[in-house]
Amino acid sequence: MREYTRSITTEPSTDVLVVGSGPAGIAAAIAAARGGASVRLVERFGFLGGNLTGGLVGPCMTSFSLDGRTQLIRGIFDEFVRRMEALGGAVHPSQTVSGSPYSGFMTFGHEAVTPFDPEVAKRVSMEMVLEAGVELMLHSLVIDTVVEDGAVTGVIVAHKGGLSFLPAEVTIDASGDGDVAARSGAEFGYGREEDGEVQPMTLFFRIRDVDDEAVTRYQEAHPEERFPFQSVVERVHREGTYSLPRRGVQLFKTLEPGVWRVNTTRVTGVDGTDVHDLTRAEVEARRQVVQLLDFFRRELPGMENCRLLDTAGTIGVRETRRVEGEYTLTLEDLVEGRPFDDVIAVAGYPVDIHSPTSINGPFDDGVPSTANVYEIPYRALVPARLDGLLMAGRCISGSHEALAAIRVMPPAFALGEAAGAAAASAVDAHLAPREIDVSALQEGLLDQGAYLGERLRAPAQSALGPSAGVPSSAAPQTAASR
Ligand SMILES: Cc1cc2nc3c(=O)[nH]c(=O)nc-3n(C[C@H](O)[C@H](O)[C@H](O)COP(=O)(O)OP(=O)(O)OC[C@H]3O[C@@H](n4cnc5c(N)ncnc54)[C@H](O)[C@@H]3O)c2cc1C
Repeated sequence: MREYTRSITTEPSTDVLVVGSGPAGIAAAIAAARGGASVRLVERFGFLGGNLTGGLVGPCMTSFSLDGRTQLIRGIFDEFVRRMEALGGAVHPSQTVSGSPYSGFMTFGHEAVTPFDPEVAKRVSMEMVLEAGVELMLHSLVIDTVVEDGAVTGVIVAHKGGLSFLPAEVTIDASGDGDVAARSGAEFGYGREEDGEVQPMTLFFRIRDVDDEAVTRYQEAHPEERFPFQSVVERVHREGTYSLPRRGVQLFKTLEPGVWRVNTTRVTGVDGTDVHDLTRAEVEARRQVVQLLDFFRRELPGMENCRLLDTAGTIGVRETRRVEGEYTLTLEDLVEGRPFDDVIAVAGYPVDIHSPTSINGPFDDGVPSTANVYEIPYRALVPARLDGLLMAGRCISGSHEALAAIRVMPPAFALGEAAGAAAASAVDAHLAPREIDVSALQEGLLDQGAYLGERLRAPAQSALGPSAGVPSSAAPQTAASR
């Protein structure tokens, strides 16, 4: 241990400071700025998007109810998707169906996904953030926080110029890992109840020169397989030819002919808040990419000539800290579709656990199905004992199982939008985030195009455009039509 003291510069204060520019941070920054707050968005990378872009993660999992009939996540997420769509960089979720190449041939939970181009996502997210008047601070890693009288009053960032203090009235922790909350002394949960193990990490990569029709033909001929190419993977496991990290190959067709995203590397037993584990995971995942490419070319129909297009700039971390909030969302809440007076987002994606210790999952761990629509309360965004802080995205307060459902990108957008709007109203009313008028927050979210379930006023369908609500029957997409 070494004591280290240094004087550092202080940047001008902002009303709201958003840490992390993944789906949650993008939406939080936009919503807070649109709510009238001065906003600074701090990001360690040189572009926006987090897993959405830098992690090459995609498609966006469902923004609809589990049965695929009602679009639940609208607001900023829908605006973002429509802007990408206008640039030819996305397909609106109302136009995709489960079992199709865009949904990775998966059926359960894979209705109405959003395929998109990560470069268009980088462009549109930056345009939307800047148009809202957000001040960007890229290439800046938050390494510490300042807490005074029980409230977070700012963060310390490290950048090429050294260290700076960024003061703010309200900070939103959208770092995915709950870095701000943890550095501020918040309690947090980690891993599953029985052994503290977290979901594995995965390095996404994309392949090109795939024969799309041959891959689709194979899947159509094997409807019994839960995961694509499952029987081939099982055969090579039996033969011992390859030691593959999953029960099948998870792959998703992109907007480009012959190009697929691959979500199949898997590194278990690693902690996304430990630099040595992260390093080990990057090394191991890149070794797996080489092995998987060889396997694809030798064994998978339609993949004989495939080549690596790119690998993600960072390994994807599915699970780390779950910051303790005023309320902790549970699996039962999701299974029963429990109503909350302070609902600020609704979602329909099921519990998606990749086994922390085996090649199994997702969706084969015996976890009961979630309700068609479930609610997320504002209190899960409010840390239990700290003021001046809200959480958004993957680090909100929930159990291991509950967060395995709401961790995907559309709910992260919705949680960010709620946190941003809440932060702006806290600043405006000179209140701590836990003290704001939640019904006014709900009204504001609805006015901005969010959907909070049937109990609360839903905006007129026409205001959302032709493909909102029930998926368009004009352009049905079936596995067979691709
Ligand atoms: C392997 C994998 C596969 C997935 N598959 C899908 C999928 O197919 N579809 C889907 O919808 N979801 C999927 N998810 C889930 C989804 O990608 C994430 O849970 C989601 O992106 C969470 O959003 P977020 O904004 O909370 O965090 P992130 O997207 O992780 O964004 C956090 C941001 O904060 C920044 N940051 C972190 N710490 C700091 C710091 N200290 N200082 C400054 N900046 C910081 C990061 O650089 C990043 O930009 C997957 C996730 C993984 C890991």
